[in-house]
Amino acid sequence: MKPPSAFDRSYEDWLSIFEEIGQPSYRAGQICGWLWRRGVTSPSEMTDFSKPLREQLASMFDFTPPVIEDESRSGDGTRKFLMRLPGGAKIETAVLKQGDRVTACLSTQVGCPVSCPFCATGAGGFERDMSRGEIAYQLVVMEKFLGREINSVVFMGMGEPFLNTDATLGAVRILNNPKTRGLGIRHMTISTAGIIPGINALAESGLGVRLAVSLHAADNELRDELVPCNTSYPLDELIPVLHEYQRATGDRITIEYAMFKGKNDSLDHARSLVRLLRGLHSYVNIIPANAVTPRYSRSLPRDILRFQSVLKAAGFESEIRVERGREISAACGQLKRDKAS
Ligand code: SAH
Ligand code: SF4
Repeated sequence: MKPPSAFDRSYEDWLSIFEEIGQPSYRAGQICGWLWRRGVTSPSEMTDFSKPLREQLASMFDFTPPVIEDESRSGDGTRKFLMRLPGGAKIETAVLKQGDRVTACLSTQVGCPVSCPFCATGAGGFERDMSRGEIAYQLVVMEKFLGREINSVVFMGMGEPFLNTDATLGAVRILNNPKTRGLGIRHMTISTAGIIPGINALAESGLGVRLAVSLHAADNELRDELVPCNTSYPLDELIPVLHEYQRATGDRITIEYAMFKGKNDSLDHARSLVRLLRGLHSYVNIIPANAVTPRYSRSLPRDILRFQSVLKAAGFESEIRVERGREISAACGQLKRDKAS
C-alpha cells in the first residue's frame, strides 16, 4: 500500500508523529518549515535531520508534490498553471498580480459536479475530490516556481469548495497555521455556487475566511439553468442562510454576478437583484463572462454599465471586475480543456 501523503499532515499531526517515533517536538516545526516555507519536498534535503531519520520519514510518507506541467502568461501579469497531482489527475491554478500583491487561485476538486453550462470546468465533468494537502500545497508549488511570496488566496479554481468542505477548511487551517504557512485568514476567500451546508459549516467553524457566492441570477427559474445546484438549494433558502451567516460572522459577503448576453443582463434583472439583496451587506462583483460556449456569450459593455448603474442608484457597492488573463483562457477549466484537445 502507498504511504499517506506528507502534505496532508497538519502541524499537530507532525507533533504526534514525532512523539510516536521518539523524536523531540521541535522536529514538527522543522519539517513544516521545510515543506511549507522552503518548498523542500525531499527528506534527503532536510539537512537538520539525521540520515536514519530522513530515511524513516521517506518510508513512512509519500513526499511526491504536485508538479507544474504547463504554463501560460498574459500581458497583465496573470499566469496560469496546469498541475499534475500524484496519481496523474490534472488541475488548474493561476496567479494574478495587483500592484505589488499576488493572489493565487486554487482548485478544490478535479473537475466539478455542479455543471454550470457556461463553465469550462463544469463541462469537463467530475473526477474526484482533492485532499486538504493537495489543495493547500498548490500555493507552495507556485511560490517556489515564481520565487516569491503569494499574499492571498481565492478558492476559485476548479471545483466547488463546499462539495469538498472538510478538505477545503482543512487546507485553510494548514495555510493559516503560523507553524506551516502562516497566511492571514482575512487573506483567504472561498467562492461557492451556493451549497448551503458548506456556508453553514463555514459560519460554525468560526475561522473568519471571506465568503463569495456565485449568484448570477436573482430568480429561481434562471438560476436553475445557470447554476444547477439551485434546484437543491433555491434562492428562497439560500438568501436567508446568507443573512444568518452575516448575523453570525458580521462579515460582508461578496456576490459574484457573471453577465451573459441576453440571459441575465436586462434592467429587470438588475432590479430583481436589488430586491433580492436588500438588507444584506454585500459587495457585488460584476464579471463580464468569458464565452466558453456560444450559448453563453459576454454581455455588451453598455448593458454591463446599465446593470451597475441600477445597483449604484439602490446604494449597493459594486465593481466591474477588470479582466485578467482573457487571452490565456483564464476562466477556470479552460486551460485544461485546451491542452486535452
Ligand atoms: N465553484 C465555485 C468556485 C469556482 S468557479 C463557484 O462556482 O463559485 C469561480 C468563479 O468563476 C465563479 O463565480 C464562476 O461562476 C465563475 N466562472 C466560471 N466560468 C466562468 C465564465 N466562463 N465566465 C465568467 N465567470 C465564470
Ligand atoms: Fe463548478 Fe463553479 Fe464551474 Fe459551476 S462555476 S461548474 S460550481 S467550478
